[in-house]
Amino acid sequence: MYRKMLSIAVAGAMSLSVASANTVDVDALASKVEADVISWRHHFHEFPELSNREFKTAEYVASYLKSLGLQVQTGVAKTGVVAILDSGKPGPVVALRADMDGLPVKEESALSYRSNQLGEYNGKEVPVMHACGHDTHMAMLMGAAKILTDIKGELKGKVKFIFQPAEEGAPAGEKGGAEVMVKEGVLKNPDVDAIFGLHISANTDVGTVRYNSGGTMAAVDPFKIVVHGKQAHGAYPWKSVDPIVTSAQMIMSIQTIVSRELKLIDDAAVVSIGSIHGGNRSNIIPSEVEMVGTIRTLNKAAREHIYEALPRKVKAIAESMGAEAELTLPLDYYYPITYNDPELTQQMLPTMQRTAGVENTLLSKPVTGAEDFSFFQEQVPGLYVWVGGKPLDVSEEDSPAHHTPEFYVDDSGMKLGVKLLTNFTLDYMAKH
Ligand SMILES: [Zn+2]
Ligand SMILES: [Zn+2]
Repeated sequence: MYRKMLSIAVAGAMSLSVASANTVDVDALASKVEADVISWRHHFHEFPELSNREFKTAEYVASYLKSLGLQVQTGVAKTGVVAILDSGKPGPVVALRADMDGLPVKEESALSYRSNQLGEYNGKEVPVMHACGHDTHMAMLMGAAKILTDIKGELKGKVKFIFQPAEEGAPAGEKGGAEVMVKEGVLKNPDVDAIFGLHISANTDVGTVRYNSGGTMAAVDPFKIVVHGKQAHGAYPWKSVDPIVTSAQMIMSIQTIVSRELKLIDDAAVVSIGSIHGGNRSNIIPSEVEMVGTIRTLNKAAREHIYEALPRKVKAIAESMGAEAELTLPLDYYYPITYNDPELTQQMLPTMQRTAGVENTLLSKPVTGAEDFSFFQEQVPGLYVWVGGKPLDVSEEDSPAHHTPEFYVDDSGMKLGVKLLTNFTLDYMAKH
């Protein structure tokens, strides 16, 4: 946190000098490509595909990138597409990432390009919608790819365009997304020096970019606790070891890890139990209770503390009740902290201020939601920012949430995203 505060203070002092670090008229180039970006977005929006099923989406992306003359690789982490733009001059390797998947949500809108698509999710037929805005992410990155290809002579080094599947999580029994892309070596050969990503925000004004330095989105650690007791008739509890009463004590005690043990003035943290199952009728004390939950942390120390405290509490309470407990942590997957490298964030703040305007570049609070862009940031310095998609005449309270049937982001928000991706690349290359 100290580092984070320091970087903000320095960033504040730099906000007066937002002079252009490159001579390319990115605004004009983004205006030129804007109509294409909008039409690509409408296509993706109308034909969304679920996580790890982005087959047609990937084909569409790959064929466009090939038409630009880029070296294109498909089938990365199942449906991912990676393209390399080589300037032919020595310099850094900058990666730009967009995610590709839609969600099992039924779109409620009157848009001409609304989705009527169906997909299969965990064995069930479901409506599919780009209800998180990943359609805009792909369109913006294709726009940036077009611009950067057109101004190849101004670049040095290489640009790696990463179109990632399954950001929302792979279907049951499958792996996917950034973690698998990293395992398959997407950040290697050529080795990436820095990575940039953005998310459209339905609750942020069009034209605004929001950023944070350090822990920006939370790490996710799901866990499971199984409490083993001794079954008995509900009328004779003294003959039981009651796993329900034991679980009740555990749930309350677990809540004190965050409220009594963590230094909450540094960063927020969450431990939630999301499901509890045990027993089947009123007059039987069951032999077993199963609980699952999630941990969200924004700094490594908090995460490590909870990894120590949770087994301590579970074990001590089980023992005090004569029960036994098994804790599985993490349960089946884990997301790292979406951590914006403070030095890179500070370097790129003038870029954001120049691109969006100082008054439209806002420092944001971290959020306890998660993002698998964090897997890239575990390997190389990265910056992940939010770009506004909310029309100015809609209030924040009236703007629909991500992942809902009414989710809406405006086409007019994408131009800023295209410019940011382009300027991040140009300015990073100029400074390295
Ligand atoms: Zn989402
Ligand atoms: Zn998303």
